Order: sequence, then C-alpha cells, then structure tokens
Amino acid sequence: MATQEQAACPHTEQRPVENQWIDPSGNEAVEVERIAFSTMDDIDLRRMKYRLCGKVGYYSEAARAFYEDGIRSPGISGLE
Ligand SMILES: [Zn+2]
Repeated sequence: MATQEQAACPHTEQRPVENQWIDPSGNEAVEVERIAFSTMDDIDLRRMKYRLCGKVGYYSEAARAFYEDGIRSPGISGLE
C-alpha cells in the first residue's frame, strides 16, 4: 500500500555540484551547489525503478501490460 510519503516522492536526490567561474576581476571562484538528480535506474528494457522509493515505472503502456499482466502486443517487440 502506498503511503502519503511515497506519493510525494520527487524521485530525485540532492547531490553537491561544484561550479567554477572567473569573476569580473579575473579571479577563479568556486561555489558548491546542491542539485537534484533523478534516481531513476533502468532495470530492464523499457522498465525502470526509482532507487529511493522503489517505485517501478515503464516507458510505454505496452511494456507495463507485458511486465505486469503478461499481455503481449506489437509494442513489446524485443522484450521477450
Ligand atoms: Zn521516488
């Protein structure tokens, strides 16, 4: 059963990223910024899983029907 917390999962995680630039007086400047990265991993052809919440997603309705219900359709060529 999905909890409220899972429903609100942004499917991202914050990771620090270093930004470097030259300021107007010619000095090198560095700033660390936290950026949200997707937690999506491919687990199969046309199927992916979000690492943090464990939610599984599909790239197409045909792929979902094949993996969840075993329904074969022209849209799943390559999955069998
Ligand atoms: Zn998530």
